[in-house]
This record gives sequence, structure tokens and C-alpha cells, in this order.
Amino acid sequence: MSPQHDVPAAPRRVAKHRLKRRSSNRRTQLIGITAALAAAAGTTAVGVSSSASGPSTASTGLSPAQADALTAARIDRRDLGSRDASRIDLSLAATRKAAAEKAAQARAARLAANATLTQRRAAALAAAKKAAAQKAAAQARALAAAKAAAIAKAKAAAKANVNKVVLPTTGYHLTAHFGQAGGRWARDHTGLDFAAPIGTPVRSVMAGEVIQAAYAGAYGRQVKVRHADGTVTSYSHMSEFDVSVGDMVSAGEQVGAIGMTGNTTGPHVHFEVLRGGETQIDPEPWLRDHGVNP
Ligand SMILES: [Zn+2]
Repeated sequence: MSPQHDVPAAPRRVAKHRLKRRSSNRRTQLIGITAALAAAAGTTAVGVSSSASGPSTASTGLSPAQADALTAARIDRRDLGSRDASRIDLSLAATRKAAAEKAAQARAARLAANATLTQRRAAALAAAKKAAAQKAAAQARALAAAKAAAIAKAKAAAKANVNKVVLPTTGYHLTAHFGQAGGRWARDHTGLDFAAPIGTPVRSVMAGEVIQAAYAGAYGRQVKVRHADGTVTSYSHMSEFDVSVGDMVSAGEQVGAIGMTGNTTGPHVHFEVLRGGETQIDPEPWLRDHGVNP
């Protein structure tokens, strides 16, 4: 398009537009004045129909334009009132909304506070439970440790007790040793003789089980004790029995008393050590090996 064709058309458009605007401005002014007049006169006093022309318009003596204006004014007033009412409604609604929001916020805050309290309580409860569990676990561990220590101690003590050896009597002197030849024995001496006054307690040298408590010919009253390692010790020529077969004795527990029963010339205890319960061995090194020196 060339500008030469456009140029003549432009002013016409502008003019037409201006004219329209002027007309609109005039109408607005007129409506304003008429509205003011109508308001001053009181709208109810003037009956105006919505139609711009007709008998009613003629009867009020208003020109169609004035009637139009009046109608417009009334519409304006109505709209204004409606708007005011709407504003009031809006204001009320806003107030109610604000109150509702405030209430909701308060409720939310309460809920949050309750939730926080619940959480705190739950956390505290969980912490307490955890602490209790830890305490119980620690106690259980301590108990288990104490139990283990006690068991270990008991085992050590039992082992010590099992291996503990004492001399068979007190206030003695040795009158015959192992392997010694002599007129009183059919063969070499099979034990160690501890001479002491009659009635002096005779004790098991080591913990064990009594397997014999009976009169045994040349041995007189004899007690035999089997120990944990299978060794058997025997005590002969005693004047009494203080244990029975099946009794469990500890090291140093009295099994009888010094006597003169069986083949003997004086009060003493004939003490034997039988390895494996069968083989007679020299009691002196055995005793020394077990920490006692007869
Ligand atoms: Zn003897």
C-alpha cells in the first residue's frame, strides 16, 4: 500500500471519532444535570417509564431525552444502592471470612500445639522406653557378666578344690615309707605310715567320692576315696568310720580316726595312693607334686 492512498482517508476517520466522543460527552453531562435535578425533586414524584417516548413521558412534561436521563439516574441510584448493599454484604462477608480464617488459624494453632504436645509426649515416651530398654540391656549385660564371672570363679574354685591336697592327719610322725622292706609286711610296704594318737582325725587328702568304708583284713577299718583324676587314696587301720560309701568328701574332710585295727603294732594310718585306682605308687612324691610335704 502506498501512503498517498491512505492520507486522504485518515482525517475523516479522526473527525468521525471526535464527533462521536463529543456526542458522548454531551450526553454524560446532560445525564449528570438531569440526575441532579431528579434527585433534588425526588424520584418518586416523577413517574417515568422506561420507554423514551409515549404518553407518560408527555404527561410529566419531560422531553424524551430528560426521561432517558432520569431513568438513567434512577438506574444509577439503584445500581449505587445495590453496589452499597453489595459493599455491605462484601464487608460482612469479608468480616465473616476474616473471623472464620482467624478461627481456622486458632484451630490450626491449637491442633499444631496439640500435635506438637503429642509429638513431644511420643518423643518423651520413646526416649523413656529407649532409656529403659538400654538400662534393662545394661542390667542384663551386667547380670550376664556377673554370672559368667561367678561361674568362672566357681569353676576355678572347683578346680582348685579338686586339685587341693592336704595331709591325711595332724600331729604325726612317719614310721614307714613306700617300698620299705619289713617283717610286718608280706611284701614291700605299699604305702606311707602316719603315726598319731588313737582318735586323731583322718582326713581325705583330696575331694572325691567314698568308694569303700569297710573292714579289710590286714588293713583293718579302711576307707577308699576316688578323686576326679581317677586316683584312689586309701586310709587303713582306723578306729572308726566317719563316712559311708557314696559320700562326696572335700579335701580335709574327716573320713575316720587313727586306730590299730588290722595288722599293726601301733596306732597309725596306713596311707596309699593308687594311680588309676589300681597301681600303688609312692605317696611322698605324689603329695609333694600336689603341694604338700609330709
Ligand atoms: Zn603302712
